[in-house]
Amino acid sequence: AAPPPLLDLRGVTALYGHSQALFGVDLTVRAGQVTALMGRNGMGKTTTIRTICRLLPNRAGEMFLDGHDLSGLPPHRVARMGVGLVPEGRRVFAPLSVRDNLVAAARPGAWDIKGVVALFPRLGERMGQGAGTLSGGEQQMLAIGRALMTNPRLLILDEATEGLAPTVRSEIWQAIGRLKQDAGLGILLVDKSLRELTAVADSAVVLDKGRSVWAGPMTGLTAEHAARWLGV
Ligand code: ATP
Repeated sequence: AAPPPLLDLRGVTALYGHSQALFGVDLTVRAGQVTALMGRNGMGKTTTIRTICRLLPNRAGEMFLDGHDLSGLPPHRVARMGVGLVPEGRRVFAPLSVRDNLVAAARPGAWDIKGVVALFPRLGERMGQGAGTLSGGEQQMLAIGRALMTNPRLLILDEATEGLAPTVRSEIWQAIGRLKQDAGLGILLVDKSLRELTAVADSAVVLDKGRSVWAGPMTGLTAEHAARWLGV
């Protein structure tokens, strides 16, 4: 049987000022599983993520984490409830060292610097280095490491492999696979690589113009669906 939902969105809508961006998003992420959030550019993927993290208010619909209502909470409370966000554009604190970036994010739990280094050995060699001087791939690893240091139950990755060299991308995909398998995290993932998504995701949700138009097991997403909603 499928594990119960860790994250559950029903009919979520959201606005930027007067302009409505989400018109009804249904989405489920289960512990130990990856849900791919898909759709063409501008269809609402990042907006959905911002809404889950309460960086943007949801106007209607329901959002539950482990049965707890997220609606109305400030962003730091959502983080404290176990939602780790790796935002688009890998934002690390450039002036701080790698170690201090990790320490600053730390909250009590199973994850520590040793665990992050076991996942991304490259970071271990660069603990004292300024985060701003890391390569793009290393910064992305640090951004993921920082989210893990908060000891999340749900990890959200927005375009975590965008613009990275192929070898680094494959290291990050491997890490995502391990986080799902070994750490049992629920993962919500936005990425452009359909091939890699297909390999790691258990289920998928497709957004079109701010609405979820398809949801199901990743294996159920056909070439016809991909052509219609993803333009590939
Ligand atoms: P992409 O892959 O291009 O980031 P996306 O699916 O993540 O696409 P969103 O960034 O969520 O799409 O954008 C959804 C809609 O909301 C778009 O029409 C976009 O123009 C609009 N939007 C995004 N950010 C803002 C903002 N800060 N103010 C107003 N409208 C916005």
